[in-house]
Amino acid sequence: MKHLEALQKVADGAGGNRASGTSGYEASARYVEEQLRAAGYKPVRQVFTYRDDDADVETFNILADTAGDPTHTIVVGGHLDSVRRGPGINDNGSGVAALLETARWITETGIQPKNRVRFAFWGAEEVDLLGSKHYVDSLSIQENTQTMLNLNLDMVASPNGGRFVHDGDGSSFGVVGPAGSDVIERTFLDYFAQNGLATEPTEFEDGDSDYDPFLKAGIPSGGLFTGDEDGKTAEQVQEFGGVENNEHDPCYHRACDDISNIDRQLLHEMAGALGYVTVAFAMLPRPD
Ligand SMILES: [Zn+2]
Repeated sequence: MKHLEALQKVADGAGGNRASGTSGYEASARYVEEQLRAAGYKPVRQVFTYRDDDADVETFNILADTAGDPTHTIVVGGHLDSVRRGPGINDNGSGVAALLETARWITETGIQPKNRVRFAFWGAEEVDLLGSKHYVDSLSIQENTQTMLNLNLDMVASPNGGRFVHDGDGSSFGVVGPAGSDVIERTFLDYFAQNGLATEPTEFEDGDSDYDPFLKAGIPSGGLFTGDEDGKTAEQVQEFGGVENNEHDPCYHRACDDISNIDRQLLHEMAGALGYVTVAFAMLPRPD
């Protein structure tokens, strides 16, 4: 919540949003970099440009690595930019907060990852997944094969939400992720089952979030989501509580996606799941 309060303050001081190419994005980035440095990381900016209304816009991703074997890299990401219409506190300040807490937790507890964890804060997701596309396109063939997997968090504190885990094995929606995506899904499900928390599978949708470029590059992917503009079904109300037929996030891409648009309990649970799954893969022994 401290991170979300900071991002709300950033938006308030920047005309109400934190969109790509704005002072709100720059201030969001500075906040994230400051937090990462305080946790012992050395964040770097990966700069790229795109065309918007006949002008070149320069923006960037932020990458921060743990120690660990770089030939087995786990990319844990979420987008840092908001839409222009609002402050983007659930979308995707919530994912950013969970990433920052996982990064901090790893250094504070003294966990020594065997496999390198790379925290990635993507730019220009709301334009067209441009930051994650740029990252994946910039990987050499070798770097691609050295990327074990991608975990993505996009909207993880929806006020009328549910615990949705991406369907890596294709058992629910028929879209099978690259081999290993099934293991990611199962590891998330283990965490929720151990904590007595109900989940539902969610589909990998073409062009929907930053997992997409990774999937298209053959990199196993998975992640969490708590819902956007879909209405809540009766079954979901039974599983997760909340209000039937109302949107999972009635403020999706709107000015009201502010600090009051957050389910704190859900955020807590999703951040816990991210920490568990990140460390499970970071500590995964490899065959010699
Ligand atoms: Zn988003």
